[in-house]
Amino acid sequence: MHSQTQLLVVGGGPGGYVAAIRAAQLGIKTTLVEGAALGGTCLNIGCIPSKALIHAADAYAQAAQGGFMGIQVDGVRLDLPQTLAWKDGIVAKLTGGVATLLKKHGVRVVPGWAEIVDGKSVEVRQGEELLRIQCEHLLLAAGSQEVELPFLPFGAGDGRVVSSTEALAFTELPRRLVVVGAGYIGLELGTVWRKFGAEVTVVEAQPRILPAYDAELVKPVAAALARLGVQTLLAHRVEGLNAAGDALTVRDPQGSLVELPADRILVAVGRRPRTLGWGLERLMLDMAGGAVKIDAQCRSSMKDVWAIGDLAGEPLLAHRAMAQGEMVAELIAGHRRRFEPASIPAVCFTDPEIVVAGHTPTSAEAEGTRHGFKVLQATFPFAANGRALSLEAPEGFVRVLARADNHLILGWQAVGAAVSELSAAFGLSLEMGARLEDVAHTIHAHPTLGEAVQEACLRALGQALHI
Ligand code: FAD
Ligand code: NAD
Repeated sequence: MHSQTQLLVVGGGPGGYVAAIRAAQLGIKTTLVEGAALGGTCLNIGCIPSKALIHAADAYAQAAQGGFMGIQVDGVRLDLPQTLAWKDGIVAKLTGGVATLLKKHGVRVVPGWAEIVDGKSVEVRQGEELLRIQCEHLLLAAGSQEVELPFLPFGAGDGRVVSSTEALAFTELPRRLVVVGAGYIGLELGTVWRKFGAEVTVVEAQPRILPAYDAELVKPVAAALARLGVQTLLAHRVEGLNAAGDALTVRDPQGSLVELPADRILVAVGRRPRTLGWGLERLMLDMAGGAVKIDAQCRSSMKDVWAIGDLAGEPLLAHRAMAQGEMVAELIAGHRRRFEPASIPAVCFTDPEIVVAGHTPTSAEAEGTRHGFKVLQATFPFAANGRALSLEAPEGFVRVLARADNHLILGWQAVGAAVSELSAAFGLSLEMGARLEDVAHTIHAHPTLGEAVQEACLRALGQALHI
């Protein structure tokens, strides 16, 4: 069977489905091929189920802790199958919503795995049928997959070694969970299972957790992990399973071998673009490391072949994939666009949360050296914020970085309870080119965590009121 479309999108994750919706809104005849489930990694096995479990684990841990703020709770019990069903319900609501939106906008959704034939056609096997779809524009949005350690393959040890997908759906509480990798996934999910009651050990190759972030920012998270009883083994090298297959063997910094018994081992050492197994190599596109190389308009090296999201490399974040998808649709419709965001905020949903946007202290200093300006840096601690205290969350701070000469805000970092929601304020101030005075003289509602954002700017101006 043959069919023809203007835009063919391969992959129905946040990048692909947003591109398809926007293209259809702009009157472009659009077909989207999805092999697994609409919503992609993010909605089905990523952002959404992980955040749902983080919320459930928080609620359970608070109740189980008892005696908190004068509240006594008796007989708290975790019904894990029900918790998983609740999480699956949220996923179903959102993926169903994506299907409805695509239908509403007239996008043709083809279930099945696309095999690239050439830059203008793909084939999709549907049972006995082979459907060939031809297009004017091909948008590659095939996402990413978890990195497997060759000496610790998924499924090894009688299914002990798992990826995040399985760790989002353990039907039984693991007694002892070992997590390899103290990055986003390892810490988010390690914390979940610790709060549900598992003994959790995190093994990290680098000398600290979340090595991509600065040390000050990570300190409250490391302290909270220690309080929760999560063991973190830093600068340890993973060797593989022991002979019996029931423990992880690691080498400590002194070179000694240590065995960590585990009934589950979550390997979370990164993800890589999904470039293999669907004929992508036939296009012989230029690559950037393991990712499809793109320019500032998400064009690949082949005319009218575009790539977005995780397939196009770092940062592997859903909101970046969506923003690229929307832009590509508009470019195909003839709009003038470039992907040049002032920032792509990133949030780590640890306890407490971390959010970063724009320059880091190191990159701001480097920028200052290059362009001849000094950098102002100021923090405001949540210990001096009324809302944080009333939430029983005095840890953490907001930090602002700005040019000393004209006060242009260069970057933000924050760590603390619920700081993920500050990402909107951070992103907006950077995108609008705000100065310290703009934020400092904006009235922020009281009592809110946002006041710490205003106070950080006041402090950078030497005008702090509450510290
Ligand atoms: P994907 O979401 O991976 O979608 C690609 C889709 O393409 C998939 O549905 C796949 O089935 C389909 N596909 C692939 N090949 C073919 C083919 N040949 N034919 C047909 N279909 C195909 N990001 C955040 O921003 N915030 C978070 O809190 C967050 N949490 C995460 C938690 C976990 C546990 C994980 C694993 C990831 C998380 N991420 C998070 C990352 C986020 O999920 C990805 O950045 C995002 O999903 C990338 O979107 P995408 O559209 O590029 O690809
Ligand atoms: P990551 O890059 O965040 O962390 C991987 C960690 O594993 C690093 O700390 C690294 O030093 C460590 N590591 C690597 N090899 C190791 C080894 N052999 N032994 C021990 N430690 C090792 O990767 P991730 O946690 O797998 O997440 C993948 C991607 O998914 C992230 O890059 C992120 O973009 C995305 N994600 C985002 C969110 C979010 O936005 N909140 C949440 C989850 C995932």
